[in-house]
Amino acid sequence: MQFDLIVIGSGIAGLCTALAAAPRRVAVLTRQELAADGASRWAQGGIAAALGAGDSAAAHARDTMVAGNHLNDAAAVQALTAAAAAAVRWLAAQGVGFDSDEHGFRLGREAAHSQSRIVHAHGDATGAVVMRALGAVARAAGHIQIFEQHRATRLLSRDGRVYGVAAQGPQGPAAFTAQATVLASGGIGALYRYTTNPDTADASGLALALQAGAAVSDMEFVQFHPTALRTRDGRSGQLPLLTEALRGAGAVLVNSAGRRFLCAVAREAELAPRDVVARAVWQELERGESVYLDATRAVGEDFPQRFPTVFAACAAEGIDPRRQPIPVVPAQHYHMGGVRVDAGAATSLPGLYAVGEAACSGVHGANRLASNSLLEGLVFGRALGARLAQLPRTVLPAAAAIPDAGGEVGSGIAGAVRDLLWRHAGLVRDAAGLAAAQRELQALAQSAANQAERDRLCVAAEIVAAATRRGASIGAHYRCDAVQVRAG
Ligand SMILES: Cc1cc2nc3c(=O)[nH]c(=O)nc-3n(C[C@H](O)[C@H](O)[C@H](O)COP(=O)(O)OP(=O)(O)OC[C@H]3O[C@@H](n4cnc5c(N)ncnc54)[C@H](O)[C@@H]3O)c2cc1C
Repeated sequence: MQFDLIVIGSGIAGLCTALAAAPRRVAVLTRQELAADGASRWAQGGIAAALGAGDSAAAHARDTMVAGNHLNDAAAVQALTAAAAAAVRWLAAQGVGFDSDEHGFRLGREAAHSQSRIVHAHGDATGAVVMRALGAVARAAGHIQIFEQHRATRLLSRDGRVYGVAAQGPQGPAAFTAQATVLASGGIGALYRYTTNPDTADASGLALALQAGAAVSDMEFVQFHPTALRTRDGRSGQLPLLTEALRGAGAVLVNSAGRRFLCAVAREAELAPRDVVARAVWQELERGESVYLDATRAVGEDFPQRFPTVFAACAAEGIDPRRQPIPVVPAQHYHMGGVRVDAGAATSLPGLYAVGEAACSGVHGANRLASNSLLEGLVFGRALGARLAQLPRTVLPAAAAIPDAGGEVGSGIAGAVRDLLWRHAGLVRDAAGLAAAQRELQALAQSAANQAERDRLCVAAEIVAAATRRGASIGAHYRCDAVQVRAG
């Protein structure tokens, strides 16, 4: 099937790219169901934009650089923050009903933002509301053809130029060719034991790029959220997120003796930066303690109205957060690294572009500022789609034979990768652990049964290698055997 543009992924980044590419013919491939199978629909917090009186794009850019330990690409940060307010208004025009008051958008405050600049929709259901609206607009758009239940399995390239993708669909393998192929395939959470990400965030897009020879960067920068809900069955994989806003509202972290432990760790206690809080929780768990988020006093009876999504997740676990502390564990949340792109979202391979969490545009540096990632998909996706709509049409090679789908990742390799990254390339790293991870990955590579397993091991090895190379602690990359660096 031939198109002008192929977009791999139907999260906020993929759909914004596809919509902005009109009138060019766009194929959107997605693993399960349009707009519903990525991380975007799970976002609870919101979208950051300098919309308030007294706020400015420059202030937003400054906060982003500070959170990123100044390892950010300053030009990318400027481009993102300057376009944020208009992009939020565009979303509202697509039918997203943002929470508002008599002054306009109701603006929330989040840790590490110097101003109130977070827009929400239906409180903690922002991602779901945004993706419902974008999904409806995409389904109605005449230039977009949607391929649900389609997993991209190989990039098609000739003479170093990407000209499409092979995919596994419900009717079997299929080939799609186009002038431009966009990876909008999201994050890597499924590679860690605990994550807030859905199962589709399994780095398969990143693996396609690596396999085709695309450059990646900042792979060691993995953000962990301090408070995911620890379930009764102790399962791994995606866990419900307990939004930071709960701590903002005064909820405290306690151990099994009911003692707050963060006061001894940081002046800001529970409101310290996300990585500091997450590490403190991890260390408490490593000591054999259990950790709970106690919102009984700070939120109490208002819980169902103020945090309906979290309340429902707790209820499913038989917990009443109005009266009981909630058991927590830290969980992989976001990947700052990814396929390296330039200011135009072009990768190192002609014909291949990347956007959203799969890409590394440099905007987040060593640590992402909260509520900047939906924004990144929105702003850079729209800009990329508009640029690709201008691409001249060229003659494409025909996909002669559709490459083999590469098989599925077996539970043995998947589980082994999750455990070893969690232990050795997780919240706390050191040289010995990273060397052990490297050895384990090499041993696993001997037993890989198919290409999908080799791909997964390859992404894990890139994370471990990057964490090994960066000897100092900075941002989300914490080495307990090294000094902490504060850049900027
Ligand atoms: C619980 C949670 C809460 C969050 N809260 C916030 C928040 O409040 N604010 C904020 O800014 N960010 C938040 N984030 C982060 C943010 O949601 C993500 O970074 C962002 O949505 C990523 O968007 P994306 O379009 O790049 O990827 P995604 O939305 O993850 O979409 C990826 C798409 O790629 C598809 N895909 C993957 N592999 C393939 C393949 N091989 N073939 C075909 N399709 C493929 C998937 O099916 C999916 O459609 C949160 C994340 C989580 C998990």
